[in-house]
Amino acid sequence: MSASSYINAILESIKIRANEPVFLQAATEVLKSLEPILSAEKKYQEHAILEQLIIPEKIHTFRVIYCDDKGKANVNLGYRVQFSSALGPYKGGLRFHPSVNLDLLKFLGFEQIFKNSLTGLMMGGAKGGSDFDPKGKSEAEIMRFCQAFMLNLSKVIGATTDVPAGDIGVGGREIGYMFGMYKKLTGFYDGTLTGKGLNWGGSLARTEATGYGCVYFTDEMLKKAKQGLEGKVCAVSGSGNVAIYTIEKLYQMGAKPVTISDSNGFVYDKNGIDLELLKEIKEVKRGRVSDYAKARKDAVYTEAKAYKKGTNGVWSVPCDGAFPSATQNELNLEDIKTLYSNGCRFVSEGANMPSTLEAIDFMLSKKDFHFGPAKAANAGGVATSQLEMQQNSSMSQWSFEEVDKKLHKIMKNIFNNSYETAKEFKHAGNLVVGSNIAGFKKVADAMIDHGYI
Ligand code: GLU
Repeated sequence: MSASSYINAILESIKIRANEPVFLQAATEVLKSLEPILSAEKKYQEHAILEQLIIPEKIHTFRVIYCDDKGKANVNLGYRVQFSSALGPYKGGLRFHPSVNLDLLKFLGFEQIFKNSLTGLMMGGAKGGSDFDPKGKSEAEIMRFCQAFMLNLSKVIGATTDVPAGDIGVGGREIGYMFGMYKKLTGFYDGTLTGKGLNWGGSLARTEATGYGCVYFTDEMLKKAKQGLEGKVCAVSGSGNVAIYTIEKLYQMGAKPVTISDSNGFVYDKNGIDLELLKEIKEVKRGRVSDYAKARKDAVYTEAKAYKKGTNGVWSVPCDGAFPSATQNELNLEDIKTLYSNGCRFVSEGANMPSTLEAIDFMLSKKDFHFGPAKAANAGGVATSQLEMQQNSSMSQWSFEEVDKKLHKIMKNIFNNSYETAKEFKHAGNLVVGSNIAGFKKVADAMIDHGYI
């Protein structure tokens, strides 16, 4: 069978098995870009690698019940999708958000396989979480939920088997409560979770890593095109950990980030986002971006209700580059056309799969546009999680500078590997093809070596 028929048959099998639109979208992006390597090397088809790769090794689903502050029972669904252990222990974050379902976690877990491979470190791919909504919950409710979630999750994770971390809705506080419960249930004080607190096993620079890494990657991408970040006006979406540290690193590189957003709306601060104010509102007060706008004289706040139908308002501002750092499918074809006509010439994805397939096609079709896909651009977070695991297993703690230097090197390597692979497979400049093939090759070759298991 030709490579393209093989790919289409596999995508068809996903559709037949279940109605999972986001997983199908993620699989389509990866599989279509593998055509050059699947045409060149028949062994992957002979060993049914794609047939295996699209099915998680194990899926754990469980009921989570906790008591709210009124003493009432609250019930949620919990999951851990252990997608691939070809390159190491399962690794990937936990997401707490009402939109979490199996489809979403399969997309995230699938992406994680290739992203983790691309870091050059030994990690498998996984994702987990719950449809629990942390918004509006009290501190005590968050604690009780995390404990109840860990009651089940603890049975399937471990420092050498599966190492979860944070994602949307799961930050240092939640990791703390989950780690406490894990330790109580198992008696182990080990590196089973990453993103831990600095005084109990966490790594310096882990909080900053995804945002910093995304900017390091962008810097490499622009340097290759004989450009730089200095003086560039950047639109950033989101206002969580990824967005905050993207903004911090952009300033350090001489760029000017001018936007932030959340599900209620976005802020345009044309003089540049006030980083200290943003940190105070998000990290200390756990507020919204509208609170930022209230506290900052020239900032303009637009409610999501007022966005042009089918678009994301944050992408309507004039900028040189954009950093989607909020969530999946937040940048569609219309958004990218608006960005492009307003002068935007690069996008680096801090979130997972923030651009739709149509938006990606548009970016790749423009000769003067640079696109840094999520698997490569946001891999700094999970890479630094692995650095945390290294520190935990050697019972040591590295300095901020040491971790940051390693992160910077990893991001440079990811860029070079993606860039060179794209060139090797005759898609020069296409980092989607480059990163997917480079990530895939390592995983697929390991699977062949391990036999049919
Ligand atoms: N949730 C992050 C990601 O999407 C980090 C995962 C981790 O550190 O394990 O890559």
